[in-house]
Amino acid sequence: LVESFVLNSEDREVSRKGKGRSPDPSFKRNGELVQQLFLLSKQSGRKVKDIDLNLLTSHFANYVKVVNLILSRIYMTDKRAQSLGKALSEYRGRAYTLLRKEKDLCYQHNNDFKELLYERLHRNALEHAGRTLHADYTRRALFTSAIKVLTDSSDDVLNLLRRKRIPSDLIRRVRDSCEFVKNNGSGYHYTLGVLRQVCLALDLYLLDSIGLKIGWRGRQRKKVSSLLKEDSPDCQQVKALIEKDLRKWKSKGYPFTVPQLRSYSLDFSASTENATGQGYWFTLDPDRENEILLHLKLPPGIDGTHPDASPYRGKTLTFRFLDWLPRAASEGSEKVKRAEEIEDFPRAERLRFRAAMFEDMHTQLRNTIELQHLTHRLTKLRQKRESDEEETAVLETRVKELKTARRSAPPRLLLRDGRVILQVPFLSPNGEVSTKILGAREYDNRAGVDRGLRVPVVLSVQKKQEYTDLLLRVEHLIAKRECLRKHAYQLQSITDRKKNNWERKRKGLSYPGYILKKERHITALWRKVRRLDREVARVIASKTVWFCEEHRVKTLFFEDLRSFQGHAGSKDLSYNLSSNLWGNIIDTVRYMREALGHSKYSVWTVNPRYTSQTCHACGERGIRVEDESSTKKKKGGEYFYCRECEEHFHADVNAARNIIHVHPGPSVVSGRTA
Ligand SMILES: [Zn+2]
Repeated sequence: LVESFVLNSEDREVSRKGKGRSPDPSFKRNGELVQQLFLLSKQSGRKVKDIDLNLLTSHFANYVKVVNLILSRIYMTDKRAQSLGKALSEYRGRAYTLLRKEKDLCYQHNNDFKELLYERLHRNALEHAGRTLHADYTRRALFTSAIKVLTDSSDDVLNLLRRKRIPSDLIRRVRDSCEFVKNNGSGYHYTLGVLRQVCLALDLYLLDSIGLKIGWRGRQRKKVSSLLKEDSPDCQQVKALIEKDLRKWKSKGYPFTVPQLRSYSLDFSASTENATGQGYWFTLDPDRENEILLHLKLPPGIDGTHPDASPYRGKTLTFRFLDWLPRAASEGSEKVKRAEEIEDFPRAERLRFRAAMFEDMHTQLRNTIELQHLTHRLTKLRQKRESDEEETAVLETRVKELKTARRSAPPRLLLRDGRVILQVPFLSPNGEVSTKILGAREYDNRAGVDRGLRVPVVLSVQKKQEYTDLLLRVEHLIAKRECLRKHAYQLQSITDRKKNNWERKRKGLSYPGYILKKERHITALWRKVRRLDREVARVIASKTVWFCEEHRVKTLFFEDLRSFQGHAGSKDLSYNLSSNLWGNIIDTVRYMREALGHSKYSVWTVNPRYTSQTCHACGERGIRVEDESSTKKKKGGEYFYCRECEEHFHADVNAARNIIHVHPGPSVVSGRTA
């Protein structure tokens, strides 16, 4: 559970919700004034001043440099990367404790590290590099086993390269042949991603060796699959080329690139929170309500300012941010009252939980800050010769209390498009918070969730012999997404044409500003599409979870990921959930259920085979029909008709109800125990 806070320069007025957000309408007609304001805001109106931004950028640069230096030393030889990666994957402690045993990675023996960072920050850099190495190690292992599977069977190679989608049975076989990947939803996705990379590598190699240059990924794919068609004259030759390449990769190893940290970020995750030496220090602003100052310790060679409250003296860079959690909590409580007035009790409950969650996060952050300060004072007191024993004792008990209290974890800093973002990981509200809000409850129903045809998701809850259904609609988001996508495609084709023109006329010259601007626009559009996808997943997951909460669902069954070709008739839909999004939804539901205090085994995925063809009441095969009165078979029809029961059901609802019964039922499923 990570929440973000936007950092501001220390002397900036933090913009708060409801205060001076929208501009004065009279500005609209006054072009000159707008221009002036624009210039002004360019100089001073940004959240972070240029001078602070420069300091922070060089701080980040040092950190990134060290992480990449560590990585380049680890990857000096493949053998070293392999052995360290293996050691890491078997190691149970923090990555830095393992890596600092290596002489060329540790802080003591390397002056180049000492010039760039102070020691505690180097520890974070080691941890960061360790995590990157671990991820890369599994990826390489998976890549290698994929190559192995592919060299063993030329049919698989053809299937992979001819088809538009990556065959799911290939994904599963590759996943199962690699010992590092777990047999679960995320392992499947990971393997899918790696196979896409293999596919890309093969395509590029092939196009390169026959001397074709195609820039666009979609066209590359089309060209390769057309070359490999059975009636294509080059098929045999191309096949031989690819197999030669695969054999080479298998015997000599695939030429992997060394992973690098590219984003500008600073990670304190290997720190503890209670000493100043860690490099970050929070203080509450005494004058402004709910505003917190963050002091960062600058590495050697960079000088900063010297605020009074900072323990780093002249080596400080200070930011401020608004702790918006209490406001969110109190706003939530207001909404609870309104929902109770109109007697929408499920909504009230949902909002109450949200408010309590924000309240809890606020407490966690405050506890962290208090602990930071008290331990600092305690060490100072102990160093004094004549310390006040009474005060020490009081402090000690409070510190002990805080150490067992709920606290947030060390933060992460990100620099994105000129905005500095502080990410703070919080403890999930399961257990304490959820029990307080929801109380002791009996959960004994089951629910099935299916990817629908007419709506993205269909949910059905079974209570004894009765069913309650929910068709989840997110049309407004999907319409928005489609609109953005169309816009992006249009812009892409216009830009491509312009680029072609430019290349014809001025070969070898780099693109001019107006084309680059269009390209930035396109990437921004795709970023928005992806954000909307995440939004869709979140909205669907939240609606699912709270519907289940309302109907006291103990166990949820989802259609699993193997059928990601889409259902019959899904073609004429403008939108159907991709398997990626579906996996995302399942993960979010699992997470949210855990946050509500359910067991992590309360969400299952099952094989959806035949669920759309059998009747949920009697189990006989039925047919799909056009509407609720028709009995004539129509492929991909909206309704389901069972001849035995002589009844019509909504096809998606029928499938969702079937999904509840596919699974024989887990032997032990622990629900919430209050
Ligand atoms: Zn039936």
